Amino acid sequence: MALSLNLFHCLYKFRVLVLVTLCLMVLWTTFSYFVDSRQEISKAKNMMEVFRKITSLENSQREEKVESNTNVPALKSFQGLCPALSPYLRGASKLTFKPSVTLEEVQKENPQVVEGRYHPTECSALQRVAILIPHRNRERHLLYLLEHLHPFLQRQQLDYGIYVIHQAGNAKFNRAKLLNVGYLEALKEANWDCFIFHDVDLVPENDFNIYMCDTQPKHLVVGRNNTGYRLRYRGYFGGVTALTRDQFSKVNGFSNSYWGWGGEDDDLRIRVEMQKMKVVRPSADIARYTMIFHNRDPGNEENRERMKLLRQVSRTWKTDGLNSCSYKLLSVEHNPLYINITVDFSVQPKVS
Ligand code: BGC
Repeated sequence: MALSLNLFHCLYKFRVLVLVTLCLMVLWTTFSYFVDSRQEISKAKNMMEVFRKITSLENSQREEKVESNTNVPALKSFQGLCPALSPYLRGASKLTFKPSVTLEEVQKENPQVVEGRYHPTECSALQRVAILIPHRNRERHLLYLLEHLHPFLQRQQLDYGIYVIHQAGNAKFNRAKLLNVGYLEALKEANWDCFIFHDVDLVPENDFNIYMCDTQPKHLVVGRNNTGYRLRYRGYFGGVTALTRDQFSKVNGFSNSYWGWGGEDDDLRIRVEMQKMKVVRPSADIARYTMIFHNRDPGNEENRERMKLLRQVSRTWKTDGLNSCSYKLLSVEHNPLYINITVDFSVQPKVS
């Protein structure tokens, strides 16, 4: 009796042992399967990354070819991307404006700028940025801006071009329409990723205020000297803004209907918000500007219709913008420091 009890016990122990071993084996197989698949996922991720790099390299080489056919300075060669923050940045600087400065002096100080364009030679810039400056009768302001902006943008290691869009003729000044023209004309020359819409009288004080586009439309003027460096009002979207090619085309650009001073920047903000985009801003200690003092220009009187226009944006934005911007193009000149586009809005363009 005692013998059979012992045998039963031994058999029981043996069965438990087999069961535990089986369980351990199942656990081990499952564990190693997960480890293997994680390694596979990270391998696949690496492959995707390599693939992405190769395709973006191919794209930039293809674009380089297109540009060499259009006579625009040759761009990137086979090299690494520039860092997100350039090593040449200096931070805040005290701006000075020398009344005696000449265009020739600014040219001499920027030997690497060719026909308004520059690209770093030590690395491939992260974005191609077109700076668009609407202009009429502000030669001195333009000179000061060029003097400060060229070295500022070079320190940021940007591949950039400066376009001045000059309004000729007697029509009232139309900042927004000039900027639409700048966007359309600049894209005929190069495949810009990012557009900076820039007033001629605002000079950036800190080169950590990066002139690149973000995943959302960016407002670069948080403060300026004549407003105590405070944002004018919560929805203020004027002065200097940065939108990618796609962000700007998604909102159909600026309205063409704002003649004279004011409103067009608020209109753009409404368009941006209607497309469920959100305005972003750099921090207030960086996004600082000096405004060069001036009186209101003749031909740019306050637009008293602007509130009425602003109430209609949701009805008008689809048909008033880039897709309806007609203009008489008088000339496109490639000056050493900027591309000068001259348009006349007082005459109807010839329909071809
Ligand atoms: C105008 C804007 C302008 C802002 C700040 C507003 O009343 O509509 O165009 O940028 O004031 O001066």
